Amino acid sequence: MTEIAGETQRKNGEKSDKDYSIEWFGNTCIIRYKGEIYNRALFKGIPFIGYLGWIAILFAGIIYIVLGICSMSVVLWITYHALNINFLLGFILSVLFLIPTGLIVIGLGSFLNIPYIKNTTCKKCHKKYTYEERKEPDVKEVSTEKSYKVTITRYWKCKYCGNIDISEIPETVRCYKVRKERKVEIKCEKCSRTGILPECRRPDAKVVDYMATTDIRYYRCEGCGHINIAIQKGLSSMDSTISYESRGSDPRL
Ligand SMILES: [Zn+2]
Ligand SMILES: [Zn+2]
Repeated sequence: MTEIAGETQRKNGEKSDKDYSIEWFGNTCIIRYKGEIYNRALFKGIPFIGYLGWIAILFAGIIYIVLGICSMSVVLWITYHALNINFLLGFILSVLFLIPTGLIVIGLGSFLNIPYIKNTTCKKCHKKYTYEERKEPDVKEVSTEKSYKVTITRYWKCKYCGNIDISEIPETVRCYKVRKERKVEIKCEKCSRTGILPECRRPDAKVVDYMATTDIRYYRCEGCGHINIAIQKGLSSMDSTISYESRGSDPRL
């Protein structure tokens, strides 16, 4: 392996604070960059979030799921009793199925916000949901041959007492290893040699925005040995790829 332990490849995005680093320590790849401040717009309509914190999110999620199950039962009951389903009724029922499915998906999706909301309770004044992010969080991705983990560390300031804090337990992003795919053409970013290369290690995948995933694939240059990474972002199931868009070598979430 020609990578030097600790060698840093630094890329600059359009803004200097958007840059990222990729470091290799033996077979372990560590990627660091600045993440984005959490979008709290979705929490505005949740009642009592200022008093109950993450429990308010839990209740809201459960209510959505219960409403989804109830409306699904109604649609199933209509379907069962509509003995002569014509095209129009079939179409209406198909559309009606989207409502309960959507409610259940929103309910389950809201649970993903719980780890974030748990971190927003002030450690000094103990008020819930009062921490606001004072700068962009740090994202760290650690990839080995067998494992892959993404953690986010956030920087807080309490809007009531002004307490400054950092998340001691960083959030963990849902991530996993996926299967290698067929060879692809890669132009080495270090020596510019172009080749049809196989993946040199199991790729990594992280889930972004519920269903969208970002895959990181690794290709070792046959000329200089440099490991090039290729990022694909798109919709995907656990192990199969659907409608992916190439992101070059930018690994950010
Ligand atoms: Zn406080
Ligand atoms: Zn090369």
